[in-house]
Amino acid sequence: MNNNTVYLPKKLPEALKILNSGKEKILPLAGGTTLLINPTENASYIELDGLNLNYIKSDKNNLSVGAMTTIGQLSVWPQAQKRAQGEPWNGLIRKCAIAIASTPNRNMITAGGNIVGLRPWSALPGVLLLLDGKIITAKGKIYPAKEFFSKLPKTILGKDIVTEIRIPLDNKDLIGGWKKFSLTSTDYPILSMGVLYKLKNKSTIENIKIVATGLTILPQRFIKTEKLLKNKQLTANTIKLLTKSLQDEAVISADIRVAKDYKREILGAIFLELINNKYNRGATEVAEKDKNK
Ligand SMILES: Cc1cc2nc3c(=O)[nH]c(=O)nc-3n(C[C@H](O)[C@H](O)[C@H](O)COP(=O)(O)OP(=O)(O)OC[C@H]3O[C@@H](n4cnc5c(N)ncnc54)[C@H](O)[C@@H]3O)c2cc1C
Repeated sequence: MNNNTVYLPKKLPEALKILNSGKEKILPLAGGTTLLINPTENASYIELDGLNLNYIKSDKNNLSVGAMTTIGQLSVWPQAQKRAQGEPWNGLIRKCAIAIASTPNRNMITAGGNIVGLRPWSALPGVLLLLDGKIITAKGKIYPAKEFFSKLPKTILGKDIVTEIRIPLDNKDLIGGWKKFSLTSTDYPILSMGVLYKLKNKSTIENIKIVATGLTILPQRFIKTEKLLKNKQLTANTIKLLTKSLQDEAVISADIRVAKDYKREILGAIFLELINNKYNRGATEVAEKDKNK
């Protein structure tokens, strides 16, 4: 097998056979936005484009996203006409996708590449943690997002190919939100944060999941703060306490662009924005009244 070869398999078994064929460095090639910008010396590539992995499908149980689906496609899913009938998770996937990079980049970056080639700013892993997504591979393995992002996905995957992301639709009525913080709208984010929650009586959080990316290489859940928030009414005082809890719980690695304390402050500010929205205006009003006492 020669180095610097690009293989063009038409079927998954053929692609798997090439990937597992020898000691040479052979890498699956998806959108190429990491691989072709920083090419690995003497590597050969398996082009995944001919494997029919570009699709977004749903049935009554699951949303299935093929690994070669682009972030651009996710940023317009569901189509505008369908959005009027209500979007799953309040448009969480679309809001996350549209915040990634620029239009030309979004048209290249794939769902599979975004989760396997994990970077601190990779957004989809955060969304999959919120939505209990599963990662399906060509060897028939099914990894829950919690496991797949517990360490570098490449070490978990080995010589296998991600074919699909599957997301259960049973909780599609929950309210989702996603915010990115970056120096310019298309720059690599300093951090991003997502929430998925259920309200009762407009101002009480029945259940919530909170995730942030950009703090360390792995996406981070905030289990302690989530537990504190359960069944809490969002008064100004609880919001203050919870923001502090979130900032204390955050594990933040060094980042050459900004200080750790700066990230901690931003984290609190984004969290406030995410939970003060039109769905819990009641909560905002309670919080405002509280503040003015
Ligand atoms: C200017 C710029 C800004 C960006 N901003 C953001 C941002 O804000 N948020 C964000 O989330 N991302 C952002 N990205 C994208 C991110 O940094 C990666 O470039 C991207 O996620 C890689 O996806 P890809 O499809 O191009 O993968 P590739 O570059 O083709 O591959 C990446 C890695 O994943 C492996 N791989 C790919 N697909 C599979 C598969 N199906 N099975 C097994 N292995 C696979 C490859 O072998 C390789 O190791 C940005 C990129 C650029 C260039």
